[in-house]
Amino acid sequence: MSCPICGSKYKEKMPQIGKHINSRCVFCHTLFGIKDTNDCCVYCTYSDKICPKAQMKIKKNK
Ligand SMILES: [Zn+2]
Ligand SMILES: [Zn+2]
Repeated sequence: MSCPICGSKYKEKMPQIGKHINSRCVFCHTLFGIKDTNDCCVYCTYSDKICPKAQMKIKKNK
C-alpha cells in the first residue's frame, strides 16, 4: 500500500471478502479512501498489488 498523503509504503493484509474502500496509513495515521466510486477497492487504487477479487476478474476475462 502506498499512502497518498505521506508517500510511505506499508503492508496491509487484503481481506478476501467485502469491499474495502479505505485504509489507515500506519505512518501518518491518515484514513484515505478510493478516488472515485468506480474503483474496485483501496488496494487496487493505492497498492502495487491488486486485491484477490480483481485477480479473479482478470482470470475470468482471459
Ligand atoms: Zn501516510
Ligand atoms: Zn480491488
